[in-house]
Amino acid sequence: MKYRTILLFGAPGAGKGTQGKILGSIPNFFHCACGDVFRTLTTESKVGRIFIDYSSRGELVPDEPTIELWQQFIRNSTQAGRFNPGRDTLVLDGIPRNVHQAEMLMGTLDVRAIFYLRCPNMNKLVERLQRRALRENRLDDANLQIIKSRLKTYERETKPVLNFYGEKVVHKIDSTQTPVEVLLDILRRIAKID
Ligand code: ADP
Repeated sequence: MKYRTILLFGAPGAGKGTQGKILGSIPNFFHCACGDVFRTLTTESKVGRIFIDYSSRGELVPDEPTIELWQQFIRNSTQAGRFNPGRDTLVLDGIPRNVHQAEMLMGTLDVRAIFYLRCPNMNKLVERLQRRALRENRLDDANLQIIKSRLKTYERETKPVLNFYGEKVVHKIDSTQTPVEVLLDILRRIAKID
């Protein structure tokens, strides 16, 4: 059985995490941010060390450990009763993050909709990330060079994921709106998805 899934898509700083947390608090929705799963690790674990190594350069963690860790997180959440695959819609943020990951998850995810949070203003993204650096203790947000490298990685590796799933499932959302307006746009569309 594939998981009924909604993807939150967009550049770093577009607001995926903010919206994902809110959507995940609605009954029958389960939010999973891949970056948050990585941040639960410590440098005691091998994957934790791999994560620090790649994320500190603004690069993606290799696909195999990423997918493995994510699958383990979903299994644990299911066993603990937090996620009920038969009832809940998965709200994913930060995964799949390239076409290869999307292919690896083809047998696992039934992607019903992609909410593409668009922000044409690069400076605004950079500004949001810099503000988040201290608030959320995110080292990869603190350095302008790393931020730029993450935005480049997004353009080069993540954006092609949109074509992989095809236009029909993609909903474009203006992420320069206030969080409540973005939420309203998403909710109006989610309510119509079967
Ligand atoms: P942002 O909110 O800036 O997009 P995330 O918290 O989603 O950042 O991710 C932080 C870092 O974690 C990424 O730069 C990357 O190194 C790593 N990461 C998160 N998700 C994935 C993934 N699906 N595949 C590979 N690397 C990932």
